[in-house]
Parts: sequence; structure tokens; C-alpha cells
Amino acid sequence: MGIKTKALQKTAPQEPFRVVEIERRDLRADDVLIDIKAAGICHSDIHTIRNEWGEAHFPLTVGHEIAGVVSAVGDEVTKFQVGDRVGVGCMVNSCGECEQCLQGMEQDCLRGNVGTYNSTDVDSTITQGGYAQKIVVNEHFVLNIPEGIDLDEAAPLLCAGITTYSPLARWNVQAGQKVAIVGLGGLGHMGVQIAAAKGAEVTVISRSRRKEEDAKKLGAVRTLATGEDPDFFKNHRGEFDFILSTISAHYDLDAYLGLLKPRGTMSIVGLPPEALAVRAGSLIGGGKVLTGNNIGSITETQQMLDFCAEHGFGAVIEKIDINEVDDAYDRVVAGDVRFRFVIDTDTF
Ligand code: NDP
Ligand code: ZN
Repeated sequence: MGIKTKALQKTAPQEPFRVVEIERRDLRADDVLIDIKAAGICHSDIHTIRNEWGEAHFPLTVGHEIAGVVSAVGDEVTKFQVGDRVGVGCMVNSCGECEQCLQGMEQDCLRGNVGTYNSTDVDSTITQGGYAQKIVVNEHFVLNIPEGIDLDEAAPLLCAGITTYSPLARWNVQAGQKVAIVGLGGLGHMGVQIAAAKGAEVTVISRSRRKEEDAKKLGAVRTLATGEDPDFFKNHRGEFDFILSTISAHYDLDAYLGLLKPRGTMSIVGLPPEALAVRAGSLIGGGKVLTGNNIGSITETQQMLDFCAEHGFGAVIEKIDINEVDDAYDRVVAGDVRFRFVIDTDTF
């Protein structure tokens, strides 16, 4: 029994990806079977499979930016029909009973949400992600992809989109505010588009000006390069109401806090492997807020998809074949992606 599918799998961090056949569970009453059409490459996939966040459970298939079409539904499924265009993001289950789940905040499930990969599922197996042709997911964790967003351009919204939409919504970023998006990668390029669509005045803070033209097209009014001005943090002190950091490597948090206006807020979504330090004085001076955000809830993910469709944008992607994934990882780490690699699952 079980549903067989081709998938890209690694047996150890230094091994290349290989095409293997893995098994998905047979449909339970509330499960949906999805034919995956596109799978985005998130930097979290790379942190995970390179053991940067601790030992991963090998052999492993990663991928939590999934877009596809429903090909079968369980007996009690009510949200979806065969043929629906759907997406799956970073989680595929949660306890459903704790205070957070009852409030519809599955991402913060007190028993820990079940991640789409490298996570222990309710049946004790290790979840396997979206670099594959098929996946079986409980209908509650499946999203509708609105007409008007291409599946390839929708896939990255399921992680990069919601992870930037959620803090911008939570901190009520709005027209007239000066917002900085730090790091113009997969998350950053979604943050720019969403903040600009909300009417904020968006500045990109990047290490160089290499992506300046693209940043403008995404809706940024300017790009500032930390690497091109030795006095950068002094020269831009106190400029921003809100800063969203998507940086994936270690950085000087105090320096960025200095860029906030008094009572400004900095939200961290980038998750570098090492701890970030903060001086108490960086928060006390100006009464600043330092916070973080873990993806977003299922309800909010649907709101984000609808918001993107309404404003007419998706992710800006580079489509690759399954045999290009190893190279793509090196390019993401080098900051050489505009702005998300998406795996074409027809190339299996
Ligand atoms: P990308 O690699 O696409 O983007 C990260 C960007 O960070 C780069 O483009 C670069 O921007 C900047 N950057 C990288 N290294 C440095 C450095 N040493 N100093 C300063 N800036 C740097 O990654 P993603 O957008 O896919 O993910 C970003 C981070 O967010 C990852 O750590 C990921 O794990 C995390 N994440 C967190 C989630 C959450 O729920 N909180 C969900 C999803 C991802 P530039 O080239 O413009 O300087
Ligand atoms: Zn991700």
C-alpha cells in the first residue's frame, strides 16, 4: 500500500541530490493528494539539509513551497475537489487542541507544529517535503491558489510570501511609513512587494547595489548598500518606522536597531544558525521593539494569497530542472538568485 512518488533525496549533507522513489501514506478521510507542479527552494531547506540548525533526519526530501493540482480527495474532504489549484507551505499538521491551535495559530502550536519535512508526524514517521511529484496532506493545511497567479509564481508565496506578509500585517505597516527590508533574496523580494502594495515607502538594504534595478521594479523607492559606505549605520541612523530582517547569516543586530526611529519596530524572520547578540541600550534608547515571526497561520496564508492575487503579483522566479538543484543551493548561499529558484517537477 502507500502512494509511490519520485522525489529528490539526500542521504547526507555533502551528498548530491538523487532521484528516488518514496512513499506517501494512503489517503485518510481528511487528506488530499496533490500532483506537485512547482517546488520553491527556500534558504531554510539549505540550513536544514546542511545540518546548520542541528542534525537533520536523513535520508531526507526537503521543500515547503509547494504548488500543484488536487488529484484525489479522502471521503470526508470538504474544502477541495479534484482539479483544484492548491498550495502547501511549511506545516502539514498540528495538535489542533492547544490554546494556539484553537485560536487558529497552528504555526505556534504548543506541542510543536508538524513541519512539511524533517519533522515527526502523528504516526511517528519523518515528514518528507515537496521536491517530489506527489504529496498527501490533511486538507486543513492545504491552501487555494487564486486564479491569476501562475503555479510557478505561487509556490514561493507559501513560505517566503507568508513569512513576510505576517509581520507586515501584525505590526500594521501602512501608507506613509518608512520601511526597510533587509536582504533582497527570496523572502526580501516578497517583503518589498507586499510592503509597497500596502503603500509604505520601501527601502531595500542590501550588501551591494547589484540588485538596485530589480528592487525598483518590485516597488522599492531606493536601495542602500551596507558594503559601499563605511559610515552606513551612522549616516542612516533613526530613519525607519519598521525594519524587516531576512538575513540568513550572522550580523550585527545593534547596528540595525540604530536605523530605527524612536519607538520603531524591528522584526526578524531570517534565521542564522548562530545566536544574535543585542545590547540592552540598543532597545532602551528610543524605546524600540525587537520581535520575530514564525511563518503565519493557515487563515493568514490564504489572506496573503488573495492579497497577492488582488494586487497582481507573485514571486519573481527562475525555473530550474531537478538536476540543477545542487548548483542552485550554492547560488542561493552566494546571494546569486533573482529571486527564487523553483523546481520544475515535470523534469523528474
Ligand atoms: P535568501 O538566501 O534568498 O536571502 C537571504 C538574503 O540575506 C540574501 O539575499 C542577502 O541579501 C542577505 N544576506 C545573506 N548573507 C548575509 C550577510 N552575511 N550579511 C548581510 N546580509 C546577508 O534566503 P531566504 O530569503 O530564502 O531566507 C532568509 C532567511 O529566512 C533564512 O535564514 C531562512 O531560513 C529564514 N526563514 C525564516 C522563516 C520564518 O518563519 N521566520 C521562514 C522562511 C525562511 P543581499 O544579497 O541583498 O545582501
Ligand atoms: Zn521556507
